[in-house]
Amino acid sequence: MKKRILVSGGAGYIGSHVTVELLEAGYEVVVADNMSNCDRSGFEGVRQITGKEDIPFVEMDFCDAAAVERLFDEYRIDAVIHFAAFKAVGESVAEPIKYYRNNLTSLLNVLEAARSHGGCNILFSSSATVYGEAAELPVTEQSPRLPATSPYGNTKQICEDMLRDTVASDRSIRGIALRYFNPIGAHPSALIGELPRGVPNNLVPYITQTAIGKRSCLSIFGNDYPTPDGTCLRDYIDIVDLARAHVAAVTRMVEGRMKEDYEIFNVGTGRPVSVLELVSAFEQVNGLKLNYRFADRRPGDVVAIWADTSLANRELGWTARRTLAETLASAWAWEKHLAGR
Ligand code: UDP
Repeated sequence: MKKRILVSGGAGYIGSHVTVELLEAGYEVVVADNMSNCDRSGFEGVRQITGKEDIPFVEMDFCDAAAVERLFDEYRIDAVIHFAAFKAVGESVAEPIKYYRNNLTSLLNVLEAARSHGGCNILFSSSATVYGEAAELPVTEQSPRLPATSPYGNTKQICEDMLRDTVASDRSIRGIALRYFNPIGAHPSALIGELPRGVPNNLVPYITQTAIGKRSCLSIFGNDYPTPDGTCLRDYIDIVDLARAHVAAVTRMVEGRMKEDYEIFNVGTGRPVSVLELVSAFEQVNGLKLNYRFADRRPGDVVAIWADTSLANRELGWTARRTLAETLASAWAWEKHLAGR
């Protein structure tokens, strides 16, 4: 029998790419989303890419405990990939209660439903934000987690702990936390990608919107950092590579190959890239000039972070494959697709 994966938040940016890769790897997938931060186009894109018309889709809120229980009653679920969460750092500072309520409650409801249904494998989407401004680079999974600088970041730490403690108390539940670095780019078909609400906070959507003329000028936040060119260093991970890491992690769980009942993996490329390098790579790959200026540092930004990926490479048999050029070409193709629809 095919294994069935529940993808909470499966209509969003990362969830839609993961759903495609799961289906292409032969899994059955149930997509659930409350559509609070996306439209139907992500799910429609998944159907188009995979050619599958009959993917179960449930519109529901993971903060509704009874609805989560009903979902587990209705479907036999071998693993949950839990994306359903708010993710805007700035908004989380302005509205912490909204972030704590949503991000913690939805995972609690998944954990409770897993318990009441005889156990489950749970993959939690965490973030490199848990490392803060790391003293040593690259960061390994053993690097210390530093106090979070935003409620959003704190929910990632608390959710990791909720999963770890639940796994420790209940042998029928296993968990993996994937710590993402900076996911960017879009599916090579240009049928799914990131759909930022309003003015983008993240670098790559801001770049593509500037290139297409939706924004007049990219502000590069800080050029006096202690880095080779003065701009911040990040580890930009291609969205399809990131999605493939989920397939590898879920497969490890459902095939019973985990070494511990709770495991953590960094998902990045292991390669630091500065903001300026990213901008010039984007210009070069896509043959255009970007209007940008240097601006003040953005409060809360860390100077540099990139991953030691050797654990994921070894244990998941996964490695990032797409080049930065391919990824930035896909981001631009997606922006053009959006402009044309
Ligand atoms: N950045 C920038 N201009 C923007 C958005 C981001 O210079 O309009 C920089 C930001 O300061 C950081 C890097 O790009 O150094 C990545 O930022 P992003 O928000 O994409 O991800 P983060 O690493 O903050 O999660």
